[in-house]
Amino acid sequence: MSPSASRAPVLVDYHVHSTFSEDARSTPEEIVEAALRRGLDAVVFTEHLEFPPPPGWKEPAYVPGRVLPAGEYLSAVAALREARGTELEIGAGAELGLEGHNLEGLDPYLERFRPDFDFVIGSLHSVNGTLVQLPEYTDPHGPAAAARLYLEKLVAGVKKAAAMKACDVIGHIDLFKRSPTFGPFRPDDQRDCLEELFRTIIDAGMGLEVNTSGYRQPPREPYPGLETLRLYRRMGGEIVTIGSDSHTAQTVGLGSAEALDFIRAAGFRYMTLFSGRRPRFVRI
Ligand SMILES: [Zn+2]
Ligand SMILES: [Zn+2]
Repeated sequence: MSPSASRAPVLVDYHVHSTFSEDARSTPEEIVEAALRRGLDAVVFTEHLEFPPPPGWKEPAYVPGRVLPAGEYLSAVAALREARGTELEIGAGAELGLEGHNLEGLDPYLERFRPDFDFVIGSLHSVNGTLVQLPEYTDPHGPAAAARLYLEKLVAGVKKAAAMKACDVIGHIDLFKRSPTFGPFRPDDQRDCLEELFRTIIDAGMGLEVNTSGYRQPPREPYPGLETLRLYRRMGGEIVTIGSDSHTAQTVGLGSAEALDFIRAAGFRYMTLFSGRRPRFVRI
């Protein structure tokens, strides 16, 4: 077998949004082209999966609009895999919002589509209806309280999602750092909350995402940062994925190579890939 045929995928992007997400601009075809240009071995689409809140829902809640049309989406990815699958691995995933109203709506959807997804990220984007990357969220609370409130809501969402086996990794766990007025995050102040989060993730057999969009946003480091990722590793965390959170083809794969060094620095010797929602480990 030639070295190229036996080469495991190492340069990957496991968090990309296409026009199947309302806030993204590039088509799936444009994303695959960009991934190939950047020399990626694998790209996984992770379209937003959000549900409208039921009547009487008590919080204003983050509602980007429509539920991902899974049938249409999965067919589009399957067609792309058929056309380009010999050039790189192409996965069909989703990014499930961990806001409470999303989890209320999830069960029937999962029943129908569970076997067809390769990978599901669980992510929290808002607290009490406000996006946590905005100064409108972080400023009134101040950094420590803004971080704590987000992490508490995240732990609650992760516990529910774990019970439903709804996701494989948890995404951008310190997204509040993206607020331009947040400043440096001090993980030590949130140690108890982070430990509870990681214990929940590890006990449920889930993993953690290293989201490289932070390199190109105000924190200039991934979500999570090195100290936080080291804590997860020390607690026994083994599953770690790498994704750019691209909403346009221009940023696909950005930071993936740096992220390999970053997770090595945190003590990992393996990165995790998924197909059919089953993990496999690649030495890095
Ligand atoms: Zn997200
Ligand atoms: Zn995303």
